[in-house]
Amino acid sequence: MPDYKELTKETTQILTDLIKINTVNPPGNEIEAVKYVAKLLEKEKIPYEIVESEPGRASIIARVKGNGSKKPVMMMAHLDVVGVEPEKWKFNPFSATLKDDYIYGRGSIDDKGMAACELLVMLEMKRKNTPLKRDLILVLCADEEAGGSKGIEFLVNKHLDKIKAEFVINEGGRIIVNEQTKKVAFVGIQNTEKVPVNIKLVAKGTPGHASVPLPDNCIFKLAKAQARLAEWQSPVKLNDTTRTFFKGLSRSAAFPESFYMENLEHPELGAFCAAQLSKKDPILGSTMRNSVSPTILKSGIRSNVIPSEAEVNLNVRLLPEEKLEDFIQQLREVIKDTSIEIVYNKPEHPDSPTSPVESELFRAMAKVGQELWPEAVTVPFMSTGATDSAYLRAKGIPTYGILPFPLNEDDLARMHGHNERLALKGLEDGLKFMYQTVVELNK
Ligand SMILES: [Zn+2]
Repeated sequence: MPDYKELTKETTQILTDLIKINTVNPPGNEIEAVKYVAKLLEKEKIPYEIVESEPGRASIIARVKGNGSKKPVMMMAHLDVVGVEPEKWKFNPFSATLKDDYIYGRGSIDDKGMAACELLVMLEMKRKNTPLKRDLILVLCADEEAGGSKGIEFLVNKHLDKIKAEFVINEGGRIIVNEQTKKVAFVGIQNTEKVPVNIKLVAKGTPGHASVPLPDNCIFKLAKAQARLAEWQSPVKLNDTTRTFFKGLSRSAAFPESFYMENLEHPELGAFCAAQLSKKDPILGSTMRNSVSPTILKSGIRSNVIPSEAEVNLNVRLLPEEKLEDFIQQLREVIKDTSIEIVYNKPEHPDSPTSPVESELFRAMAKVGQELWPEAVTVPFMSTGATDSAYLRAKGIPTYGILPFPLNEDDLARMHGHNERLALKGLEDGLKFMYQTVVELNK
């Protein structure tokens, strides 16, 4: 048994140092964080390789050898972070301020906290000369927040041989603390994810002087289409992951939510149950269907000119089994205006298969979760957001997401928001979760 109190101190220091290295993407400049990690690996004589997709956009791959009786396992995290509005923060987002047993800083939960834990697991196992059956691979990536083309996509396309593993642990899952009971309600192990795609609706009309209103004004046309879209919701479609997820969650939820979760596919009550759940929790709403969020609206050049074109960008998150063309067809039927052009490219993230819940890694994560939080239910989980995992799953490597820190809704909402923070107790739990999972896999 490692001394988790001591290890947590060390992890806190590493996380502090990583937060202080500004890796806001763009430009990312992950090389500085990679050099820092490399120094720590060198101290323990762990071999590593730095891979740069372009100058400054670096990822690092490290490996501690096992005896080869089982296939390698890989831990991964990303080193880049999203931007900040510093004036909205209580502390400088890159100062890693410690306050009331929280460490504040951009990246503390997304994803430098996880990177620090994984690094510590590797350092400690090497130091202790822990006998391993599997090679332990650590991959800390560039560019996740911008889609991964300069990070994981580059790695799987150019260096797949260096990161081949039987399975991978990445970010993307959730350990959710119930606000009322203060206990962990569920451990969600992400084994699939929704697919992001941007779709533009473009309305065209006759331009002219604003003093003479025209019947085909493109802004009105687009507004009508958007109004129809706002009234619409894509139908509920559960897959194996979300069906198991809602069933599992219903066991720990209070009535009437538990009833809604159990009856999402009921022929008469399903629609009502889905509406109630979606109202209560928009994340659950997005988990059960394809989703549409308008994000950018563009039109007009002068206040007294009727423009010839108006467009809206729809950020769509498709269920993993949904065909884009089928969804476009649904959109056409909803907006009911054949003159509006629908413009889209195929999704940047690859099509990727769901990772099986019967794998040794899924079982190990579930077991460790049960040991650490016996009151929680463990469920497979489909994230509404996209992660680097899609690239690995697409290459046939089962990949499982977790964010190993128990978080309540408030802390979770700070991800990509203001005052992102991680509780020191959460960091210790995360470290235990990662360490014990690797121990399980080497039994
Ligand atoms: Zn992330």
